[in-house]
Amino acid sequence: MKNIRIVIDGPAGAGKSTISKIAAKELGFVYIDTGAMYRAVGLKALRAGIDTKNNHAAVISLMDGVAIDIKHGGDGQLVYLDGEDVTAELRTPEVSIAASDVSAIPEVRLKLVALQRRLAEKDNIVMDGRDIGSYVLPDAEVKIFLTASVEDRAKRRHDELSEKGIQVSLDEVRSDMEYRDKNDSARDFAPLKIADGAMVIDTTGNSLEQSVDLLIGTIKERLRCFSR
Ligand code: C5P
Repeated sequence: MKNIRIVIDGPAGAGKSTISKIAAKELGFVYIDTGAMYRAVGLKALRAGIDTKNNHAAVISLMDGVAIDIKHGGDGQLVYLDGEDVTAELRTPEVSIAASDVSAIPEVRLKLVALQRRLAEKDNIVMDGRDIGSYVLPDAEVKIFLTASVEDRAKRRHDELSEKGIQVSLDEVRSDMEYRDKNDSARDFAPLKIADGAMVIDTTGNSLEQSVDLLIGTIKERLRCFSR
């Protein structure tokens, strides 16, 4: 039987990863966070001292030799960059900005999209990102666009970073987010947008529990329609 693909796109801080991870666990599906792959490329560029905003040629030349691997650990996804587990280094504000910069480069996207499509063939998956429903897996069985107000998103991301011991002000998180949203929506190749046939879920004002319930309810309803 063909595997089931649930895709969840949306802007930064909409709670995609947290909510998708819990939903995947509950459904018994494998969770794949594609943002972490762009973050790994961003980290590689930062380590090489590249100006990610302006020097796209240097980023492209890095892509030839890069190896990005995804493994599924007990608590979710582990990301390996050239054989090194970099999962814990991917969440800093510097890496967020570098990820957004490198994600505008078609050569970077094509390489990561190929990896994402390969991973999506293997298992029943929940995959989150920006262009999964519109570009990577346009024929996915369930497509969701998860969003929330910019205030809610900034506050959630700020709480998440504080929990991880990363100290940044709410204003900095908010302006980071606005920078990335603008970049992600404005790029020419596979921008952030609501995919054809996607259900929009707005979690503004919801608790995490309410958002998870809403998402799982929507997914189950869609899967029921699909199996009829
Ligand atoms: O989802 P996350 O915030 O970790 O993603 C980091 C960055 O990677 C985003 O700001 C976006 O620029 C990029 N990204 C993307 N396409 C995806 C996933 C993430 O362009 N499918």
